[in-house]
Amino acid sequence: MSEKPDPMTVPFGTVFCDWMATAPSEDGEYRYAGKVEPYGDFSMSPAAHALHYGSTIFEGLKAHTQVDGSLAIFRLDDHVGRMRQSAAQLRLPVPDEALLRQMIIDSVEANVSEVPPPPGSLYIRPTLIGTEPNIGAAATPSSEALLYIVNCPVGDYFKGGVRPLTLLLEEQIPRTTPQFGMVKSGANYAMALAPTLDAMARNEAVDQILFATGGDITETGAANFFLADDDRLVTRQLDQSFLHGVTRASVLTLAADLGYEVEERPIELDELEDWASRGEAFLSGTAAVLSPVGTMLRGNAEITFGDGQPGVNTLRLRESLVAIQNGSGGDPHGWRTTVRS
Ligand SMILES: *Cc1c(COP(=O)(O)O)cnc(C)c1O
Repeated sequence: MSEKPDPMTVPFGTVFCDWMATAPSEDGEYRYAGKVEPYGDFSMSPAAHALHYGSTIFEGLKAHTQVDGSLAIFRLDDHVGRMRQSAAQLRLPVPDEALLRQMIIDSVEANVSEVPPPPGSLYIRPTLIGTEPNIGAAATPSSEALLYIVNCPVGDYFKGGVRPLTLLLEEQIPRTTPQFGMVKSGANYAMALAPTLDAMARNEAVDQILFATGGDITETGAANFFLADDDRLVTRQLDQSFLHGVTRASVLTLAADLGYEVEERPIELDELEDWASRGEAFLSGTAAVLSPVGTMLRGNAEITFGDGQPGVNTLRLRESLVAIQNGSGGDPHGWRTTVRS
């Protein structure tokens, strides 16, 4: 235990806590023993559905040390709900809300001693995979599945902390398919990998790809996209084409609380220059929190937002989000679930 590297200095998601919660299904019902077990490898059939036909889904949420020393999970029920929705879309047995909630809480309570101090946090990764051993099941769902929760102590997602990102606009290749846009499934990340790597290989300065397929600006590989100025916050309206971030929803609520006018609508590529001249852009996600965008590359054009540094509105929204996450502010929307620590 004590030889683990410092989570604040190693890459995000590479250090794992000592305990995990596991529930294999039996006749389509998840069987949780009611307690965590030591983190470790497990075995499965080489014919498992997930390994051949991509029946994998996951969630990503965080528990934060509070200013009073307790520990709270941020928007637990929203993540539980989204995971059940992803499971349903892959026709995997859908875990009970109460069971999934309990397994997440148990995993966090077991790993309390490994939660790093702020700005670090405990990243929680609920995972669900199809385990039916049947390679003839390409066109049928996996009747059995394994649900498990692992945790990672984490620091900053992006190397170097809060620094402005450079995004490349990808106008041709889609991030995913229409029916998988709002599903947190492994297949989406496999799909986005080649175009992302190819684009990055062409330009070393690029941190992330912003998918704007056919001019429709949606999101990056793992974060939602916003424009902001002193009065307004703009992000794309919800439909099935992209992942409905819990952070996205939180930012919209907080912005409205702070008096911003909130617009959920299509963002035109041709608006970007204008926003850059007088506004800000940022990404949102559990891992990324709120990450300022300094520059966007569109073909040969370089669009720099303001002076390329984090904008005041981005930082203000980030602070108000972080204040709820770490308990230094109130919780008017009931987003914190306090756990035993
Ligand atoms: C997880 C994820 C997000 C961010 O969602 P949050 O709930 O805010 O963490 C955005 N886009 C994609 C593709 C994702 O996988």
